[in-house]
Amino acid sequence: MNKLVERVKAEGIVTVLKALISTEKGRDYLLKKLDDLIFRQIVLNNPKGRPHKVQEDKYHMLMSIAVSAFRNIERGYFSRAVANKMIESLVKGALLHSGADAERAFREQYGFYPPSFLTISPGKACNLRCIGCYAASGANLEKLRFDVFERIVREAHDFWGSRFIVISGGEPTIYRDNGKTVFDLYEMHPDMYFLMYTNGTTIDKAMAKRMAELGNITPAISVEGYEKETDERRGKGVFKKVLAAMDNLREFGVPFGISVTVTRLNAPLLMKTEFYEYYFEELGATYAWLFHYMPIGRQITLDLMPTPEQRVALYWKWREMVREKRYFVADFWNSGVVSDGCIAAGRPGGYLYIDWNGYVMPCVFIPYYVSNINEIYANGGNLNDAIVTPFFEKIRRWQHEYGYKFHSTPGNWLMPCMIRDHHAEFRKIADEVGVKPEDENADAAFKDPNYYKGLVEYDNRLKELTEPIWKEVFLEVGKKAAA
Ligand code: SF4
Repeated sequence: MNKLVERVKAEGIVTVLKALISTEKGRDYLLKKLDDLIFRQIVLNNPKGRPHKVQEDKYHMLMSIAVSAFRNIERGYFSRAVANKMIESLVKGALLHSGADAERAFREQYGFYPPSFLTISPGKACNLRCIGCYAASGANLEKLRFDVFERIVREAHDFWGSRFIVISGGEPTIYRDNGKTVFDLYEMHPDMYFLMYTNGTTIDKAMAKRMAELGNITPAISVEGYEKETDERRGKGVFKKVLAAMDNLREFGVPFGISVTVTRLNAPLLMKTEFYEYYFEELGATYAWLFHYMPIGRQITLDLMPTPEQRVALYWKWREMVREKRYFVADFWNSGVVSDGCIAAGRPGGYLYIDWNGYVMPCVFIPYYVSNINEIYANGGNLNDAIVTPFFEKIRRWQHEYGYKFHSTPGNWLMPCMIRDHHAEFRKIADEVGVKPEDENADAAFKDPNYYKGLVEYDNRLKELTEPIWKEVFLEVGKKAAA
């Protein structure tokens, strides 16, 4: 019965979304209706009994997604045809569980629900050499065979009911194998939606037109700030090419976002409202992803990580942008509340990462593995075998013990991250299962006592800063005691 009620509510949300796309009349009324439906479902119904303030953050995030999308649909930057295709794949997948049969079958076999998506970096090759990029170290010839790449995506669809895949790199638009490109993959899976990280420099009019015709791709274009910051890290002239790419995408109605690596140096810039206004209002971005610099990849240095103080300041800025401006901004360490904490290691509703060598990793930011998808396939296995390794199982147990099992009083999700925020615990698991490093940089980091020490110091300070916020703002400890 509960399931039926949930479905009716989800169908109500899809109906309002479709009406918003098809008509310009009554937009304010429909948005208000959507707001009511989402608030009721997420905050009032609160099916898992999470803290009220956690649910509030989720509601604000969902509304920021809707408002950012419809703002650009109205401006003509996000075509209605593309928006409809997004509803059919991504939104119906998430709300109406188009893959529910697969989810149920997985649960019957393994005893837990499958992850919702995965990130794949099909090739390491890139046309740029950005400072500190994890994809820019070593030789650039490594790549997945196209048949393996496509099989991974197909199995995520068939075994997990997944309708969403993230493609990273390297630069995905220059991936080639056996005459196939990432666009061939997108074309083969019209009922799935793909988010593709790209440096944007290859997106000309023809590529933007192809994305619009396929209708199931959104590019997240990397910037480091404005022109100065972007060109300093990515190379002279790159920002102008990014602007040209955005022009092309707007012309063909392809929704795009930006992806920013936040460092100690550019963090002050990301604390200014003007930064977000520039990308959302002037350039027509639909979303912005903020990734705090993680010391992995080339030229590892802890000195580029935003300080714990900067991280907390960025948390408040993120909250303000989502709540007050309704900009769809996700800060991948500060927005842990909206995903109920860490989503790594194939947790139910979470994800995992597979790189160009086939190494299966818990997360893009954990460059250690115990299994390889090429070997799994060669031995007659399938994608599910990549999830049930001791490494992933121990991380999922940690996530559970840390957060999920205490429905109304989860652990501090302002510091949800295994590898960055709880490094000592991550290392304990990594040592117990005997992980292998993705490359020589990950190996060096693992063996460097200063790396370990620096991250543990960062974690201790972050805990001092965020525990009071977690308790007062999210768990409402003082308020409940006074009541
Ligand atoms: S390990 Fe850290 S970066 Fe990766 S999903 Fe978990 S919280 Fe996010």
